[in-house]
Amino acid sequence: MSQGRSQVYEVEGAGRFDAPRTAIGWGAVSEVGAALERLAADSVLLVADRRAYTASGAEAALAEALSVRRVQRIDVDGPNPDAAAIEVAVARCRAMEPDVVLAVGGGSAIDLAKAVAGCCGTDAEVVDVLRGQAPIGSEVPPLIAVPTTAGTGSEATHFAALYVEGRKVSLAHQKLRPAYAIVDPSLSRSAPRELRAVAGLDAFAQALESAWAVDATEQSLADSCRALELAGPQLDDVVHAPSAAAFDAMARAAFHAGRAIDVAKTTAAHALSYWLTAKHGVPHGHAVALFLGPILSFNAQVSAQDCVDPRGAEAVKARLAAACKAMKISSPAALRVRWDAFLQSLSIPTRLSEVGVKTDDDRQALVEAVNPERLSNNPRRLDRAALERIVAEADGR
Ligand SMILES: [Zn+2]
Repeated sequence: MSQGRSQVYEVEGAGRFDAPRTAIGWGAVSEVGAALERLAADSVLLVADRRAYTASGAEAALAEALSVRRVQRIDVDGPNPDAAAIEVAVARCRAMEPDVVLAVGGGSAIDLAKAVAGCCGTDAEVVDVLRGQAPIGSEVPPLIAVPTTAGTGSEATHFAALYVEGRKVSLAHQKLRPAYAIVDPSLSRSAPRELRAVAGLDAFAQALESAWAVDATEQSLADSCRALELAGPQLDDVVHAPSAAAFDAMARAAFHAGRAIDVAKTTAAHALSYWLTAKHGVPHGHAVALFLGPILSFNAQVSAQDCVDPRGAEAVKARLAAACKAMKISSPAALRVRWDAFLQSLSIPTRLSEVGVKTDDDRQALVEAVNPERLSNNPRRLDRAALERIVAEADGR
């Protein structure tokens, strides 16, 4: 595998609270030092995925920049830290009052860092902030996000997904968008195959869902299509035959998909997925992927009678056509065939019954857990009967 790609960075965005300043490219992690300088950071709270921080090479790459600063480190072990881990992390942040919160890891580490930063300048109960029952702190320390997976695109968004007491909570605020997104594809090389797969599934689903979302704009659609153009040819390789080119493309795809959902947000496949992750521990990207095919086919049939998008069914179909075109795929039906074949190639469960949803009661609980607000962003209306059909199809029935 080539490690010798030239070090090309693109720096864009104005800084905090609008678009992050972005360094993206092979070796971009070396830009973290410059970002800390610009933020005049003497103290840094590092929120790091324990495995990835060392294995990705980030620890070695950041050693010099961190050696001259006061640093406290919070280790994140595995996906979706529980309420107790979130409480401990917030307490550390409140005691330290860091100049900067630096997140290095996948979506779980970056989203925990957002929650920690958001709870830092307030004495409110953490759980109240996470549930939206108390405002985030008035002095949110700036975030630098350094993803080690090509997945959630959290480095580009203003929201965080966390799981508290078996329920997904979503923290959203403009102040939670990272001031800096440092996207270095080389950091994702050490991710195990299964993690590369579920991260790639999430990035792809986010790119596609944001394309058809009711909240999609011209700009977000451009990001969705860029993500799909990059991911379409490389998603298979990043799992089955990883190369420098595949890591590079997928890291950029995940970032553009993140930018797209930052505006357009996600839709029905994500809405259906959260219960599977919260109740059955299904990795996020895997849980979303189980519903994406049925939702794709469903949304492709949107009509004037059931279209939720005020721009009309033809506009939704045009966005879906643009998404297919970005991948050089002829139609939504052809995309469905390709998607199903890709899922099968991953050797992961592809039916709900294989991930713990076995009985009618389980399927009812899944449908009832869906957040109606998320569904309202899906371009085709989903009533209870339609949801039940989607769930049946996701179970291969
Ligand atoms: Zn996602």
